[in-house]
Amino acid sequence: METLFCYCCRTHHPKDQMRLFPTRQGMRWRCIRSIEAAERSRSERDAFGRQQTDINRSASRAAAEYVHLRHRMHLVPG
Ligand SMILES: [Zn+2]
Repeated sequence: METLFCYCCRTHHPKDQMRLFPTRQGMRWRCIRSIEAAERSRSERDAFGRQQTDINRSASRAAAEYVHLRHRMHLVPG
């Protein structure tokens, strides 16, 4: 079976598991598994970032409502 050197895993994989992948050094052979793993971790990071944005947004809204409430109850001057 023909194998190619995977620059990502630094080992040889069967050619049918390999894809040409653009790197700073040019096109290099890389296995589909490592490409998909990188794609997955990137989309998980994106999802995590969106989640953090939502948390921050609701936290700042809650803080704003708290200040408004304190004003209404005359707990703070002004
Ligand atoms: Zn690999």
